[in-house]
Amino acid sequence: MADDLLNPTIANYIGGGSMIRRMFEAGIELKKRYGADNVYDFSLGNPDLPPPPEVKKALEKCAARAGEEFAIGYMPNAGYPALRSALAGKVAAEQKCAALTQEHLLLTCGAAGGINVFFHAVLSAGDEVVVPAPYFVEYNFYAANFGGKLVPVPTKDFTFELDFDALEKAFTAKTRAVIINSPNNPTGRIYTREELTQLASLIDKMQRRFGRTIYLVSDEPYRFLNFDGAEIAPVFELFQNAVVIGSFSKNLSLAGERLGYVALSPKIGDAAKVMSALILCNRIQGFVNAPALGQQILLECLDAQVDLDVYRRRRAAMAKVLTDAGIGFTMPRGAFYFFAKSPVPDEREFVDALFAERVLVVPGRGFGVPGYIRIAFCVDEKVIVNSAAGFAAAARKFK
Ligand code: PLP
Repeated sequence: MADDLLNPTIANYIGGGSMIRRMFEAGIELKKRYGADNVYDFSLGNPDLPPPPEVKKALEKCAARAGEEFAIGYMPNAGYPALRSALAGKVAAEQKCAALTQEHLLLTCGAAGGINVFFHAVLSAGDEVVVPAPYFVEYNFYAANFGGKLVPVPTKDFTFELDFDALEKAFTAKTRAVIINSPNNPTGRIYTREELTQLASLIDKMQRRFGRTIYLVSDEPYRFLNFDGAEIAPVFELFQNAVVIGSFSKNLSLAGERLGYVALSPKIGDAAKVMSALILCNRIQGFVNAPALGQQILLECLDAQVDLDVYRRRRAAMAKVLTDAGIGFTMPRGAFYFFAKSPVPDEREFVDALFAERVLVVPGRGFGVPGYIRIAFCVDEKVIVNSAAGFAAAARKFK
């Protein structure tokens, strides 16, 4: 029987589809019809810059070693010890946490793999994960994979600052974790030290109220994309039970190679026990380990990153396009997204009007907040500049 083939949950997911992917696929069709230069595709957060030169050098070094015994064989499930140790040094500096060692660090298949492994290890059926909205919608799936439920909590309109009244109401006896993402996809917001300090005391209060560990998960794939030198406050300093999930998809433009990590705060009661669980989950989810070649490359490139100035110029160009079109936005401080206000309450109408101008963006409801559009500016600056007429024409329709 045809409707008997799938787990109904997965069948439902397929029916729902992803707004981002749908827009991306529609873009491929448009490009075939009008030519790639006449389509302005801001739908996907896929870095377009080539990896920095250090990656090529590291690849050549790997190629020279490829004939060696076990150069790409299995390694310990947590990753190559040398890389774990070097990465621990980097994360310890970022998190201002001298006690962090390789024993607190697991190499994963991207941040996505890391979040799944962590949720697998800590969520029980019915557990809730609080997230400020808008948010990266894949979190819904990652929590549901392990019987958990995402609980989105609105942030303040337009500025996307945390709303502590709303957050406090969201905690229940089932709350297991709060996940934040800073710099943020889709808003570009970087949470301030004051906000995170207040969040830490709220979580402490809730841990006492409900008598259970509530983890703070800080998803940081955009940590390096910090345009104005704002502090990205170290969560290991501020929170008791903090976990940092990192990634090399964006800073090294290596998204397809699937490289990320989970770092546990040494302040967690029994961090060694949690790490054993993470290593086990990395194995039994079938990841086994993060990609061997990717890890070997990473060991050579830990301090490299793509040129931030390229993204800085793109941000300025995009801000000008939106301002000239009369579209409201809060300037993103990091990541490569604008979450701009739609001139019409149902932003899907605006997305359609932009589509008619061959400008592709994603409706805000795809991130849990209608009334906005997300614009990914990881595209050539000339695409941004050339999209100006399309943005202006679409916005004029709602004046
Ligand atoms: N978290 C956020 C907020 C993201 O935007 C992304 C990717 O776009 C990920 C996690 C997943 O990144 P990775 O490629 O490291 O799995």
